[in-house]
Amino acid sequence: MQLRFRLEAGLRFSAPFTPEAELAARALIDEANRVLFMRGVPKGVDQADVGRITGTPEFRENVLLLTFESGAYTRAHDALFRFRKQVAPTLGKFRMGIREIDVGAYTISMKGDFPEDFRVPNLPFITGSVLSDGTLTLSLTVSAADLENRIPDRLVRLVEEKIEAATYGGKSEHWELVFESGKKPRHFTEDPTAAMVERGWIKHAPARGQWIFGPQAVQLFRAFEQIVVDEIIGPLGFSEMVFPKMVPWEVWMRSGHAKGVYPEIYYICTPKTRDASYWEDIADYFKVTGEVWIEEIRNRIDGPIGGMCYAQCPPFWPFVQGETLANDCLPIRVFDRSGTSHRYESGGIHGIERVDEFHRIEVLWLGTAEQTVEIADRLHEAYTHVFENILELEWRSAQVTPWFMAQEGMVGDQAACGCGERIGTTDYEAFLPYSESWLEFQNVSINGDKYPKGFNVKIQSGAECWSGCSGIGLERWTAAFLAQKGLDYEKWPEKVAKLVGEPKNLFTFL
Ligand code: ATP
Ligand code: ZN
Ligand code: MG
Repeated sequence: MQLRFRLEAGLRFSAPFTPEAELAARALIDEANRVLFMRGVPKGVDQADVGRITGTPEFRENVLLLTFESGAYTRAHDALFRFRKQVAPTLGKFRMGIREIDVGAYTISMKGDFPEDFRVPNLPFITGSVLSDGTLTLSLTVSAADLENRIPDRLVRLVEEKIEAATYGGKSEHWELVFESGKKPRHFTEDPTAAMVERGWIKHAPARGQWIFGPQAVQLFRAFEQIVVDEIIGPLGFSEMVFPKMVPWEVWMRSGHAKGVYPEIYYICTPKTRDASYWEDIADYFKVTGEVWIEEIRNRIDGPIGGMCYAQCPPFWPFVQGETLANDCLPIRVFDRSGTSHRYESGGIHGIERVDEFHRIEVLWLGTAEQTVEIADRLHEAYTHVFENILELEWRSAQVTPWFMAQEGMVGDQAACGCGERIGTTDYEAFLPYSESWLEFQNVSINGDKYPKGFNVKIQSGAECWSGCSGIGLERWTAAFLAQKGLDYEKWPEKVAKLVGEPKNLFTFL
């Protein structure tokens, strides 16, 4: 993508220009074009790509009107601020201080390959856009503060991302088989959810994608948790923590989820006041009509202040935010199983396999790149042992790399240890005989420096801090196991049957 930036700005000073001051300013402009704006520009870059002050500067009383133009180097707004820094001491000698910068017209043009049906997205600050002959021209309305906040750079990056998304739209995920267990004994061809409902192990709850798990189902959940503790997180030295389950925006801003999680969030609101009299009519409305006055409740709440736990690890990070971790406490290894995760899965809901409220053990670790990758490898080994020798599942694992990760250059070798190539996610999938399809029942992710960077976490040695996480979905483990092994516990692999015990029926419905 070939970039051009053009910006008109008025630098307002505390006093009008005298002829001497004007002369000094003109000299400064020449100097800036020759030297100041060239600083840091790699050798061999075409002059036309570097920011410069173009046209004739205009002096109007105490305002200096300038036009800045650039390609990708010393972008127009960077040139503006460099110039401001330079001009202040020089004109200070004439008792002129910079009061304000008024930004006039700002345009960005992007020349390159646009997908056929590319539509310019609705973005803040963009007040006009034209796409013709492979050049997209954007007109911006921005203040100097917006420019200091690097708004044009973010807009360019975002438009580039949208172009990539439109180009690679079809290939949403790269999928590459890593391991395949081969066939395992199958005792069942039914849908495990329907079979559990039939036996009274679970019942659908009133909310969408939500189940009430009876004792029999919970026996399975707890047995799986026990296996995870005994075979995986215990031996690998993980300690239990409790992560919050109400996630405020500031956490998702740092974890990156604020970039796109909106369609799946369960949003959280707070009452405008906890004064009972403020809510009395709402309560009375229900007492009289038997209906909850939802329309009016909307007017009495604040927020949303955030959402319910979506991915389990982001709310851990404020625990280490802004800290430098001592070398000898690394790698940090923790896990959380303290509550539910919530996702608005919309039409995707299916059985207990894809629900809006689910239970998951989240395993999380951080350390150097080498430590992070090594733990992921040891987890892979431990999981393999569990699926092969304890659950006896028919399963496979695959390396999945969202295309945007590949595009962002997040995959590829940055570190000397070769760890960079390992950034990404491994999905674990189990075969579901009833639907002859594969179900992702857990994953292991090596997230690189994404979270430590977002939450500003450092390591004493100065080594880059990395992290990884693994989400073990209990509904998915249950669905996978029962789909292959059935509900008769005599047919289950011995270790599992022993841990679960005979399914206990408490309720007799007449
Ligand atoms: P899918 O592609 O199936 O939607 P995902 O990629 O959204 O899964 P992740 O965000 O990687 O899932 O979540 C990690 C784990 O959390 C999954 O492997 C699964 O065990 C569990 N999980 C995610 N979404 C759900 C859901 N809607 N219902 C039950 N478990 C879920
Ligand atoms: Zn995670
Ligand atoms: Mg999903």
